Amino acid sequence: MQVVKVSPRGYCYGVVDAVQMVRNAAKNPALPRPIYILGLIVHNRHVVDSLESEDIITLDGPDRLKLLETLDTGTVIFTAHGVSPEVKKRAIERGLTIIDATCPDVTRTHELVKDLVAKGYHIIYIGKRDHPESEGVVGEAPDKVHLVENKAQVDALRLPDEVPLAVTNQTTLSLWDTHELLQHIKQMYPRVEIYNEICLATQQRQEACARAAMEVDVVVVVGDSRSNNSNRLVEIVKKRADKPAYLVDNVNELQPEWFIGKNSVAVTSGSSTPTHLTREVISWLEKFDPS
Ligand code: SF4
Repeated sequence: MQVVKVSPRGYCYGVVDAVQMVRNAAKNPALPRPIYILGLIVHNRHVVDSLESEDIITLDGPDRLKLLETLDTGTVIFTAHGVSPEVKKRAIERGLTIIDATCPDVTRTHELVKDLVAKGYHIIYIGKRDHPESEGVVGEAPDKVHLVENKAQVDALRLPDEVPLAVTNQTTLSLWDTHELLQHIKQMYPRVEIYNEICLATQQRQEACARAAMEVDVVVVVGDSRSNNSNRLVEIVKKRADKPAYLVDNVNELQPEWFIGKNSVAVTSGSSTPTHLTREVISWLEKFDPS
């Protein structure tokens, strides 16, 4: 079968750096043990499993403050998605050694929000509820940062007229959906200042994926079902190119019937997907005879 390897795809610099920081921590005897990661270092269970074998304990759960309460000693690593100031403060209060693996692009959004709030702004934040990145950014000023996921939630907002207003967003959202929602917000609040924070890695992967999808019969995205950017890639193929798209965690999830009668397939992967998983998928598809 003809396979188009979408480029760029896979690991972004934020994920590479975060995973490297964890591996360095595992090798550093000076760091207090145990070493914990507060949440999934990236949304991919293969990466998480491989770190377990290096004696790094991943604490997974929706409430990171509660997770912290279970720790009395050791080192805690914050993930690439960032944390709220409250989580940072609590980790210090509990006497834990902190390693912050927050991606610089996520840190930039935190700085932006802090700066605007200090100037008296209210902020509409487009993001996924319950995603660690949204939780961290909203946590900068919960009474001033208003999380929205869609137009209905924008319409339901009741913001004071007299305050300055800005809108920003989670780094891994769909370029096109975010643009649409930003336009809607601009219509409702003409005075709003727009700070689009979709990161460059996300933007390049989405654009490349949308372009490739136009040229093929079907698209496979390799990624974890909890990875926001992997799910967005599937959605983009369906919406932008009107082609079938499948999210698979690894080669074993490929279903031959998806490709019967098709000539070409594009393969891409989320920014937290280990390269070898994508290579295995490509190799399976290259050998597959769809006739
Ligand atoms: S997807 Fe973007 S924001 Fe997230 S870790 Fe990668 S580079 Fe950073």
